[in-house]
Formats: sequence, structure tokens, C-alpha cells
Amino acid sequence: MASALREHHVVVIGAGVGGLVAALQLAARGLSVTLLEAADTPGGKMRQPLVDGAAIDSGPTVFTMRWVFDQIYASAGARLEDDLSLITLPVLARHAWSAGEEMDLFADPGQSRDAISRFAGPAEAARFVQFCQQARAVYDTLEGPFIRSQSPTLASMAGDLGLKGLAVLASLGPMSNLWDALGRHFHDPRLQQLFARYATYCGSSPWDAPATLMLVTQVELDGVWSVDGGMHALARSLAALAERKGATLRYGQRVAEIEVDGGRASAVITDSGERIAADSVVFNGELSALGLGLLGDSARRAAPPLTPSQRSLSALTWSVHAETTGRFRLDRHNVFFQPDYGHEFGDIFARSRLPRTPTVYVCAQDRGDPAAVPAAERDRLLVLVNAPAQDGRPLNDSEIDACESHTFSLLARYGLTIKRTPQNSLRTAPADFQRLFPGSAGALYGRATHGWMSAFSRNGARTRIPGLYAAGGSVHPGPGVPMAAMSGQLAAATLMAHLDSTSRSRRVHISGGMSTR
Ligand SMILES: Cc1cc2nc3c(=O)[nH]c(=O)nc-3n(C[C@H](O)[C@H](O)[C@H](O)COP(=O)(O)OP(=O)(O)OC[C@H]3O[C@@H](n4cnc5c(N)ncnc54)[C@H](O)[C@@H]3O)c2cc1C
Repeated sequence: MASALREHHVVVIGAGVGGLVAALQLAARGLSVTLLEAADTPGGKMRQPLVDGAAIDSGPTVFTMRWVFDQIYASAGARLEDDLSLITLPVLARHAWSAGEEMDLFADPGQSRDAISRFAGPAEAARFVQFCQQARAVYDTLEGPFIRSQSPTLASMAGDLGLKGLAVLASLGPMSNLWDALGRHFHDPRLQQLFARYATYCGSSPWDAPATLMLVTQVELDGVWSVDGGMHALARSLAALAERKGATLRYGQRVAEIEVDGGRASAVITDSGERIAADSVVFNGELSALGLGLLGDSARRAAPPLTPSQRSLSALTWSVHAETTGRFRLDRHNVFFQPDYGHEFGDIFARSRLPRTPTVYVCAQDRGDPAAVPAAERDRLLVLVNAPAQDGRPLNDSEIDACESHTFSLLARYGLTIKRTPQNSLRTAPADFQRLFPGSAGALYGRATHGWMSAFSRNGARTRIPGLYAAGGSVHPGPGVPMAAMSGQLAAATLMAHLDSTSRSRRVHISGGMSTR
């Protein structure tokens, strides 16, 4: 069996977290794995461009669900803590609604309750405690039947949830959206807004996202870590571990075509014309790229592309290495709200334009660790506002300039002045994300989780072409670093299950390590 596995050659396309995890787990199981990545480094969206000599985390910044990575490393006989230094952040995020109107959420729920009590009164703090209980129940209910399941359907979910699970979901209110569900918990609109923002972690609007997305809140309340060396260090570590397990990783190799022979994926062709035969292929790019024909005509039927209205949020970001001044005390994760939250999502999803009143997120990657040396004179910052995907009319420079000016003047009003210059600031717009991640139209989280059925509409690890599997934030269980990592596990598990003919009829499911059945 071992030599048969070694003879099975898998080509993984893309070194995003989903592709890296799939490559690692398949190599650890003894398969022959070649990973081809278009960029010069691993990580995909976990990228770290150099700005003014400083490496700035310019993709994901919030590291949650550490247990997912503990299991992935363990499944390859390694320990996460041996490769990476993770620090538990005491402050989850600092939030501001105007100059001086600020509130922190803490890793310690008691501290959060006290902070909410001081900020919005003891009754609101009691409502926060009730909310946490409901969010926990939703998370616990959905983790097994949905998040860890290979490709859940309404029918499989109904069976797996049982009466207790169905009762938890029914308690959210029939077909309730996240915004309304939060309105039933919180009387202070600022807290409703704070917890509604978690819909954006899946690239969605709180007004269209189902109330079940409150589980994202629970994920963050369960802990946020910072990674020494930035999130990109996680990608480098996964890549190195995959290589230690025998995978070959090749950078600067864009795959132009997936060949299909006799109805089955059989080879890939790089844009330099090299043909690499494959017994199986795992695609970690944006799933829509296949349906759009970006990987050749034969692969089109693997999965249909998203329509513009199904796309999730894009972003307008600034990676900055600069001195900051003002009374606002930067922590690692900082959120600056404006009062009219609905207008922001109306602009993005209904009017396809940059928000006139953006919520601004600032990651100060050198802050937040109480044991760290005092921040350097200049901060490494990622400033982010939500933006529409680029399926329709492209945004022009003057719209982007106007949004930039709203963004940085809002920060200054709230007490944070960032001394930017053209040399110390790198702007990334939706069109740039589209170039970096072909087929995405700049949307960063695959399909938006809009409506109760949307979560069931994501493709699973299997595609319609035998031998071609999918991993990444655009497939089940969805976007975010830990979820995309789980999709890599599911792709590896599905492929292994197909190799093992005896297990064909059983459902694939992630349990402790890579396991499958
Ligand atoms: C600005 C920003 C902020 C975010 N914030 C967070 C956060 O705080 N927390 C969180 O958990 N998540 C966050 N996310 C989402 C998270 O980064 C993604 O969901 C996750 O990293 C996606 O991983 P993936 O496996 O889908 O691969 P991707 O990161 O999408 O990478 C895919 C890779 O495939 C390569 N590729 C594509 N096509 C080809 C081809 N034809 N040939 C060769 N290579 C190819 C690409 O070059 C790329 O490297 C954020 C994303 C962004 C952009």
C-alpha cells in the first residue's frame, strides 16, 4: 500500500493555507506531492509585502481557532509550538465610536462584561452574558454537523443536529438575520454594531447574513493569538513542514491549464509550457476561476462560477510603516465605527460603490503583547475598509482617493493621526486583489453568506471532474484562515477516501487529525 501511495502523484495548485494543508497532509500520508504556486512565496492572502523596508502583514491579521492548527501539526507528527511562537492577546480588539467613546473586548469574558458594564450599563452587560451563551450554543451545535462535515446538506444537517440542535437554531428566530437577532439581545446600538461586524469575517452584510453567523463571534471570544513574525510566518512554517514530509514546492509557477483525459484530471500545464502528469489535482485558487475557464476549457465544468450578486466583500487596504500621533492608544486590533452602519453595506452591496461612511479597521502588528518591548518609533499598520467586488463597473482613482481621504480623516477625528507619505504607504484596491487572486473579482471570502441556504451552496472538496479536488476559502467550510485550513484537510481526506475503495460509501468528516471516516 505504501509504495502504491508513493506512486500516486498529486499536483496541488496554490500555496494558500488550504493548498499548504492539503499538500502537507497528503505528503504525510506518503503520497507524492508537487505544489505549484504562482507567487514567489507561500501564503496567498497571508502575504507580507515590504513597505519602506518593513514586512507588513497585509492579509489576515486575526488568528483564531488555534486548535485547528494544533491538530494539523499533530497529524504530521509535529507540534505547532515548536515551529511558531504564538502569544495569547489579552485584548481581543479596541473599538471606538467617536473621540473618547471607546471600549475593549477581552480574552477574559469577565473583563469584557465589566468593560461593557462601564460603557453601556450593567443591564447591557447582563445581556452580553446571555448573548455569549447563545453564541456558544450555536457554535457547539454547528461545529460537528456543519463545520467539520465534508459537504453538509439541509437533509444531512437535520439528521445530525437532533432535536436539541434544532431547538438551538429555532431559538434564533425563524429565518432571522444577524442584525435583527443581535437587536433582540442588545439595547445599545453600539454593541449591536460591534457584534454585527463579525459578519464581515465571512465577507457578508449583517443584514443578509443568517443569525447563525453569531458563531463567528464565539470563535473570537474563544481566543485571539498573535504570531511572532506575522501571519505570513504560519504559511512559511506550513510550507517548510510540507517539504520535510516530502512534498516538492515550486514558486513562480502559474498553472495555465488543467488537462482532463477520459473525464478525469490527468495533468497540469504551467504558463511556461511545462506539462506535469498527475493522478489527482487539488485546486486552491478561487473556485470560480475554474468555471470561468481560467484553467482551460476542459476544467470549466468542475464548478460553476459565482454570479456578481453572490460575491463577498472586497477591501481597500493600506500597508503603512509610519509614525502615529494622537490620543488614541493603539492596540493590536482596532476598529473605528461610524453611526450609520446600514449605509455602509447599502453602498457596498446595493450600490456597488465604496462606502461614504466606512468602518475602519487598523491592525498595529507590533502592539498588543504586554510582554513585548515598547513599540518602535514607527508602527507597522494594516488599515482596511470594506469594499465591493469588481464584477461590474471598476472603481476609478478619484472614488478610491475620496474613500482614502474619508478613512484617514475619520481616524484623525477619533485621535489617531498616521504620518503617511507616498514612500511609506502601499495601497491595495479591489482590482489589485483580482489580479493577485484570479477569478475572485477582488472578493476576498468566496461566496457571501447571505440567506439561510447560502452556507449549503458552497462547493465541497469534490468537484464535478473526477480526480480534481478543491481547497480554500471559496469552498466549504468557508473563508478565514482556520476554515480554509480545514478545507485543505477535507480535500486531503476526500482524496484519500477515494483512493481507499473500501471507504467509498462512507461520509468524510474531520475528527482529531486528518482523519476521514
Ligand atoms: C485583507 C484581508 C484580511 C483578512 N483578514 C482575515 C483575518 O483577520 N482572519 C482570517 O482568518 N482570515 C482573514 N482573511 C481571509 C483569509 O486570508 C482567507 O480566507 C484565507 O487565507 C484563504 O486561503 P486559501 O486557502 O483560500 O488560499 P488563498 O490565500 O486565496 O491563496 C490561493 C493561492 O493560489 C495561488 N494560485 C491561484 N491560481 C493559481 C494558478 N493558476 N497557478 C498557481 N497558483 C495559483 C495564488 O497565487 C494564491 O497564492 C483576510 C483576507 C484578506 C485579503
